[in-house]
Amino acid sequence: MITKLLRKVFRRDKPAAGPVAPPGPAVIAVEQHGVVREKITPGARHVCDKLQAAGFKAYVVGGAVRDLIAGLEPKDFDVATDATPEQVVQQFRRARMIGRRFRIVHVMQGRETIEVSTFRASNDAETDEHGRILRDNVFGSQAEDASRRDFTVNALYYDPGTQTILDYHHGVADLQQKTLRMIGEPRRRYREDPIRMLRAVRLGTKLGLTLDSEARAPIREMAELLENVPPARLFDEMLKLLTCGDAWRCVRYLREEGLHHGLLPLLDVILEQPLGERFVMLALERTDRRVREGKTISPGFLFATLLWHEVLANWEARRARDEASIPALLEAMNEVLDMQAEKLAISKRIASDIREIWVLQARFDMRSGKRPYRLLEQPRFRAGLDFLELRAESGEVQAELADWWRDFADADGPGRESMLIADSAPKKRRRRRRKAGSEQDEAPAAVAEPESGLPSA
Ligand code: ATP
Ligand code: MG
Repeated sequence: MITKLLRKVFRRDKPAAGPVAPPGPAVIAVEQHGVVREKITPGARHVCDKLQAAGFKAYVVGGAVRDLIAGLEPKDFDVATDATPEQVVQQFRRARMIGRRFRIVHVMQGRETIEVSTFRASNDAETDEHGRILRDNVFGSQAEDASRRDFTVNALYYDPGTQTILDYHHGVADLQQKTLRMIGEPRRRYREDPIRMLRAVRLGTKLGLTLDSEARAPIREMAELLENVPPARLFDEMLKLLTCGDAWRCVRYLREEGLHHGLLPLLDVILEQPLGERFVMLALERTDRRVREGKTISPGFLFATLLWHEVLANWEARRARDEASIPALLEAMNEVLDMQAEKLAISKRIASDIREIWVLQARFDMRSGKRPYRLLEQPRFRAGLDFLELRAESGEVQAELADWWRDFADADGPGRESMLIADSAPKKRRRRRRKAGSEQDEAPAAVAEPESGLPSA
């Protein structure tokens, strides 16, 4: 009994759950955390200096501090302050307030944009029936600001002036011990915002941290709460996860934790098929490579790959029922995108990118006459060809097809002409096919060509 009480009193390693802020932060010197001020971008340093000179508190906060301690390059620098958004705006020549629900300030310094937010508290009163926080728009103390953050490693405040870190929840120690620990009671924090489960997967993978057992245990049973999250927000978080440079490992982690059902409901099915799994793996590895090389990632391409095998299966099933090839492909595309939209909103623009890439796949089968030339003119040709190469690599189509297109695109005029494949399809049949798919330019004729690299139904 007494030992229990003593343990309770002296237990320092876990912050109190709920809105009660723990006493004071630990002040961690540069010798311990190793982040020298030169690691902070000039813009972020300037913002902190200027606010501090005007008598406010100002710290670099969140992911940037965490990443720097972990030896990674931060994506962006955020600053937290006790100045109100109005007061922040007054300090800078190029600054504007954004956000309606909670106003934050974007300060432009040279080519940098620094996001400056005022310390805030979470407001328990405004939750939906599942406990999900609807608003977190009340200003608060710095300690409250630390407590509303998700993981201990994300609640670190770096002062470029003194090079010290204010650590409210033992985040530096957790980071050094490679632990991802939730601030407060994990169940309650997931209920407040189910997105935190996805953040746990992404940050754990990206930083090589092990999710603390208390934070891990409830995920499986709480995964379904993701259904209450607005689809647009889910999409943003999924995109972050898929473009973090470790997408393949993240997706496997999502599956292990049973988190993928509500996100990419189709992923389960796709990964069950050996060809599908290989395709998704290759696609995600390609994305990871590009992210690491600092190249751009097209969300359309990414989602086109994740959903492709579902489209393929649907398309094949329709063709087996004797549906005409192109209308069948278009129907399959619609059905898959509609099903996906219920869970995770894919914006119209991205959905149209996805469609373009898919439709191009059908057109790659046409290698005679003028059609290959017209295909080269398509704005999405390169993306379509990359996609075709993935299909070839995964064994879905013959490598020869992708090689042919790569050579064709690189060849000069006479070279191209010599590559064209004689068109042997009888004219009558071709005309009929063209009519069947007349809504979708001339792509239709392509899909049913005998040379199609697609597996037959
Ligand atoms: P990255 O920028 O690498 O994606 P991050 O942790 O910086 O990771 P941001 O979305 O930039 O992620 O958020 C900045 C900070 O805001 C986080 O470090 C964390 O302190 C806090 N935060 C973000 N999302 C949440 C959330 N869902 N719940 C609680 N705190 C959050
Ligand atoms: Mg960030």
